[in-house]
Amino acid sequence: MAFQIYVSPPHPSGKELTYLTEAVNQNWIAPAGPHLSRFETLVETYAGSAYYATALQSGTAALHLGLHLLGLSQGDTVLCQSLTFVASVNPLVYMGATPVFIDSEPETWNMCPDLLEQAIKEQLAKGKKPKAIIAVHVYGMPYQAAEIHSIAKKYDIPILEDAAEALGSSYQGKPCGTLGDFGVFSFNGNKIITTGGGGVLITKAMKSKQEALKLATQAKEATPYFEHKQLGYNYRMSNLNAAVGCAQFEVLPQYIAKRRSIFNYYRTALEGIKGISFLPEPTGFFSNRWLSVMKTNSTSQRERIRKKLAAAYIESRPVWKPMHLQPLYQHQKAFTNGTSAECFEKGLCLPSGSQLSEQQLDLIIKIIRENA
Ligand SMILES: *Cc1c(COP(=O)(O)O)cnc(C)c1O
Repeated sequence: MAFQIYVSPPHPSGKELTYLTEAVNQNWIAPAGPHLSRFETLVETYAGSAYYATALQSGTAALHLGLHLLGLSQGDTVLCQSLTFVASVNPLVYMGATPVFIDSEPETWNMCPDLLEQAIKEQLAKGKKPKAIIAVHVYGMPYQAAEIHSIAKKYDIPILEDAAEALGSSYQGKPCGTLGDFGVFSFNGNKIITTGGGGVLITKAMKSKQEALKLATQAKEATPYFEHKQLGYNYRMSNLNAAVGCAQFEVLPQYIAKRRSIFNYYRTALEGIKGISFLPEPTGFFSNRWLSVMKTNSTSQRERIRKKLAAAYIESRPVWKPMHLQPLYQHQKAFTNGTSAECFEKGLCLPSGSQLSEQQLDLIIKIIRENA
């Protein structure tokens, strides 16, 4: 169905064509070039001087290479947040590893530290030490990093941080994407800024970046002929996509401010109406509010609102269906407490794009109020 208002459409800054024209005129129409370096520098400046960015074709590719750098291999187990987009999990399955899903806690909707520790203990008792933890900042809200990271440290298990939705979010002042052993951003069209499809892998060591670059470009050896010792991929971001990314990065602070103001507008107008609620930010947490997510009273209330919005050509979407409930993954082991299932049953993602006008917000709020 064609909507007039989408949940999270791309928002051009106005500079995209300028940079694209530069790239084309310079004939850098390739997965290499000056805009690619500039884009990576912009991400590195954002992340802080201690980090390296590798620009890739998608967040999914970045997760895949992150798992490679962690040494994941066939038969390994990875502990993964259940309330997420399927791309958090698929790459580990590409590699022949097995996911074990961890439910959420109600404060941030992200990985529950207690269930994480329970899962680790159970896996250790079976003699299968998990190879990695994939923790997600769902909808831009940081996960309980102090607790999750102290458990990871206690059992010496690395964290691959899926910050695909959390560019611009931070935890105790530290940017999301730099909290884990490796971090991932997505620049897909629906994210807070976009390259028209793309991702970045954040690493702490230059050596890891070099390894990621090699894997992303078919694992070519440094010989004049094509020599390959490893199995590589064709994952490097194109300079054209990076040119778009440069234009988008310039407006990131404004877009974050706008998304946060949209969230506050909804929250002020709707909170408390027939059991409707929104997730506040715990102290020390800063969310980019990539999506404004509303919790309703019941699935029927949620569906009534969603359908009325759709009838007015306004898109809204139920919260991610947890991985442990997906037909693809429901046979996998999961440590659950009902939180993510409840978010899926009652949660609704509202239009959150940084181009929304106050008039559009008022219309959306009116429809929700009338149908709550
Ligand atoms: C968007 C997203 C990804 C994947 O990013 P792509 O760039 O679309 O491959 C991974 N994880 C989460 C949580 C996402 O929202």
